[in-house]
Amino acid sequence: MSTEKGTISIHTENIFPVIKKFLYSDNEIFLRELVSNAVDASQKIKRLSSLGQYNGEVGDLLVDVKFDEAAKTITISDNGIGMTAEEIKKYINQIAFSGATEFMEKFKEANDANEIIGRFGLGFYSAFMVADTVEIDSLSYQEGSEPAHWTCDGSTSYEISTGTRTTRGTDIILHINDESAEFLSKARLQEILDKYAKFLPVSVRFGTKTTSEPDGEDEEGKPKYKSVEVDNIINNTNPAWTKAPSELKDEDYLAFYRELYPYSMDEPLFWIHLNVDYPFNLTGILYFPKIKNELEIQRNKIKLYSRQVFITDEVKDIVPEYLMLLHGVIDSPDIPLNVSRSFLQADGNVKKISNYITKKVADKLQEIFKTDRKGFDEKWNDIGLFIKYGMLSDEKFAEKANDFCLVKNTKNESFTFKEYYEKVRDIQVDKDANVVYLYASDAAQQDGFIQTANNKGYDVLVLDGPLDTHFTSYLEQKGGEKIQLKRVDSDVIDRLIQKDEKIELVLSEEESKKASDLFQKAIDRADMKVEVEALSVDELPVSVTLDEFMRRMKDMAKTGGGMGFYGNLPDNYKVAVNGNHPLIKRILDSSDEEAQKLAKQAFDLALLSRGLLTGADLTSFVKRSVEMI
Ligand code: ADP
Repeated sequence: MSTEKGTISIHTENIFPVIKKFLYSDNEIFLRELVSNAVDASQKIKRLSSLGQYNGEVGDLLVDVKFDEAAKTITISDNGIGMTAEEIKKYINQIAFSGATEFMEKFKEANDANEIIGRFGLGFYSAFMVADTVEIDSLSYQEGSEPAHWTCDGSTSYEISTGTRTTRGTDIILHINDESAEFLSKARLQEILDKYAKFLPVSVRFGTKTTSEPDGEDEEGKPKYKSVEVDNIINNTNPAWTKAPSELKDEDYLAFYRELYPYSMDEPLFWIHLNVDYPFNLTGILYFPKIKNELEIQRNKIKLYSRQVFITDEVKDIVPEYLMLLHGVIDSPDIPLNVSRSFLQADGNVKKISNYITKKVADKLQEIFKTDRKGFDEKWNDIGLFIKYGMLSDEKFAEKANDFCLVKNTKNESFTFKEYYEKVRDIQVDKDANVVYLYASDAAQQDGFIQTANNKGYDVLVLDGPLDTHFTSYLEQKGGEKIQLKRVDSDVIDRLIQKDEKIELVLSEEESKKASDLFQKAIDRADMKVEVEALSVDELPVSVTLDEFMRRMKDMAKTGGGMGFYGNLPDNYKVAVNGNHPLIKRILDSSDEEAQKLAKQAFDLALLSRGLLTGADLTSFVKRSVEMI
């Protein structure tokens, strides 16, 4: 064949500088594109052979990635179907360029390289992001084919002539440009291949590596070893998610987890194997990690693949946000990878896939809950946050999770919503028939209040997680009928759950007023309002409480619940003086000086019991206490 020159038929002459410049930040994907083309070509020959359309030897299919630092080339070779000169003209010059004009018109709207490359069929041409000149040397599988050689320097003209390959397949030779010299490095290429090619379905070789091999025995009869060079195959062509769940044991799932996250310290708690082909195609394995309290750090662990080619670990628009806490792999050729975000969210398949995953996850949790309640309880500390996150953000998930979401009390007993409602409904009911759930957000600090509640026969929940501010409101709405949640330190116990019987105040109106003034003066703080109340004798003489409503609004403001206004208000503490406690009577009967001292002491004790007594106040409290002993 004589050399033939031609011009690629697009209207825009200078597409390459634009592609190069625009895609510069993401230019490493040239390797993903070329290696996956090589993989496709390899799989095609296998298919042709199994269909009886190719009768030659298929052999071991291998994609080989090589580089030559001195010659400044990277070569991607395969022994796939190859291309004839005619096919190169058709597939490379026309197909690969199809959409190029459109690209020129639309590229301004696109947000990232992925978006453009697939949409405009620029897979092969992404080579020009890093190469000045690209050569193709190919021999088609078809009998009697002549090898073909194509070269293009990045302008729209190309040259095609007889090639040199003697065996079936294709070499793509990239002459790397100066700005892309970083790619002529073993470490860099290895890094890119590890990222994109780790689970490709055809073996990918990248150079060699040294290992040791037995080499007979030495004089003393000890085994000897020699170091040998072996092919460095960088991928596992048969990753766990591509297998049938029935083929896999727990060890296999755990081993695959370690393959995905070699640096992870923890083992996953359990996993789900996704496997559907209708109405969309989706495979994958999702792992439930132990979820610690920092929600942000743990995101972006799910890796998205399309036919075993790594695409991205940003799955934000494909799975609901709370599911991003899971780890693992999703592989779907049906997720349009190359369209804009807003389009993705509206895409029917993406919605179906997202619903499917949500359902699978909820079903799995329900199954564990039903078949192994004890195990579920034990895992709760590691999965509870995830479940709450799901319930707060996804109604469909919440519908199911209402049955198995647990709450724990200060005695570390756990209950479903229903169980808890049944437990407290008759005891913790107030005069207006509200069932009051008491909770602590910090069991150690609120211990005094918890004990007071327990003494009354009341139960106290522990809600101390990062989402529990929002979860309290959720429980009120969904936990059962007429439920109110009150933090155990938000008022004195008799007022948290107000019963019908009225406790009489033993102090006269005058005494009461006197006590109030006395305490207000002794406390000397504008942010704390004193109230003398008729409480039962066994309650503390003085307690400092924090109003539930205001505190909740402030907590919401802190966690971004849109209550900004409340965030700026001071804390709303109240000092409840128990008019029925004998100490109050005693204080009233004391001399002025003594009364001030005792009132201050009783108040400091109340502060101390909730961890509010610090600094100079604490020091003077200690001094005063010493004096009093
Ligand atoms: P796409 O892969 O999306 O079709 P590309 O621009 O990457 O687009 O490739 C265009 C076409 O060129 C491919 O569809 C294929 O027919 C052909 N091709 C590319 N690389 C190879 C290869 N290594 N072996 C055989 N054919 C190839």
